[in-house]
Amino acid sequence: MGISRYAYKGKRRFRIDDFDCGDTDGIKNRGDAVDEFVANLVAINKKQQKLYAERKEGVIFVFQAMDAAGKDGVIRTVFSTLSPHGVKEYCFKVPSSEEKSHDFLWRFWSALPPRGFISIFNRSYYEDVLVGKVHAFYKNDIVPDRMKEADIIEERYRQIVDFERYLYETGTRVVKIFLNVSKNEQARRFISRIDTPRKNWKISSGDLKERDYWDDYMEAFETMVNKTSTERSPWYVVPADHKWFARLLVSRIVKKTLEEIDPKFPVLDQGTQESLADYRAKLIESLGDAGYHEQEKNPTEFADPSMIPAEMLQRELMMKQEEDDKKLKEKGFKAVRKLLASNYIIHSAQDIMDAISQEQEAEDPEDEVPQPSEELPEETVAEIREGLKDIDERLDNE
Ligand code: ATP
Ligand code: MG
Repeated sequence: MGISRYAYKGKRRFRIDDFDCGDTDGIKNRGDAVDEFVANLVAINKKQQKLYAERKEGVIFVFQAMDAAGKDGVIRTVFSTLSPHGVKEYCFKVPSSEEKSHDFLWRFWSALPPRGFISIFNRSYYEDVLVGKVHAFYKNDIVPDRMKEADIIEERYRQIVDFERYLYETGTRVVKIFLNVSKNEQARRFISRIDTPRKNWKISSGDLKERDYWDDYMEAFETMVNKTSTERSPWYVVPADHKWFARLLVSRIVKKTLEEIDPKFPVLDQGTQESLADYRAKLIESLGDAGYHEQEKNPTEFADPSMIPAEMLQRELMMKQEEDDKKLKEKGFKAVRKLLASNYIIHSAQDIMDAISQEQEAEDPEDEVPQPSEELPEETVAEIREGLKDIDERLDNE
């Protein structure tokens, strides 16, 4: 349940070569993560309502990653149950010519959250020490002579730390999240994007070109984390080869951040409370003979409104689980058919599971259907076995 293993606060050195992008903090599979994930979203939801009501502190969650690391999916799932009036996402792309004519932090000021709000930075000023460093874009800038002599990237690290300190001291917290995907997993996701027409739009030739600079990027990410991690504005390096784990860990980070802020619903001062009591008495009096009846309240109203989005999500997750199980069964039948067609003798349920695995990899490596392994549900195995009984008939019919 911890996040400290993934936190960098300026004391511990981050070494990207030692980092395991496939780490899942000991959790075996997605199924085992669902309950905690939903519980985290419920907790985040409640805290965010308080953050918004209290209007004391703003928060920025910065997301940085190589392409196809799953930034968009993480942001969508972790923040989707939050009230839209307190949360806003900003996507920072290649700077426009107007943006380029200013200092590199200029375009971020207008995206800073008011107190009580959360800003999500989908890419950020850290691009200026990542892509900006790897391709040395700053060399094309027209700047005063003194800047030509300076070590621009080194200065930017310091300017970023200063900027984040300034924000912290003036009421805005910055939490940075680096989704670290491995080079092989990125290749698999790119292949899947190329192979799957509905995912084609996600890939550009630019993404593929940047892959050639992989080592330079890794060096830039490592240095970025080491130079800009502070106690108040930490970096979290999230293993991103398993999307479900990246989402879980980010939900932990967001939850922890909001817990640290510890927002509370404002309590009205004595005078206001008394005047509300007066208003209440007047309202009841105005009802006269009609009277005020507790039971006339809307019967569909939830006792605790903050539960609504999470309950909806839980239902959705359950539906998705059913869908996944269905998909798995389909794959089971398909795999068994193939096995039988190749005259393979099925000895055990494990044979079927292995065949489903192969089926799964061949079909769509990026699709998130559960990986069949030892965690294949008992009932599913039983149903596949049941399905075997009429498999001959099915083959005849095909
Ligand atoms: P998606 O591909 O999911 O829509 P994305 O964040 O990858 O999201 P793109 O439009 O593909 O969006 O890429 C944005 C590009 O803008 C990235 O290649 C990034 O490196 C680049 N970029 C962002 N900030 C800067 C900057 N300051 N200088 C140069 N390039 C930048
Ligand atoms: Mg992109």
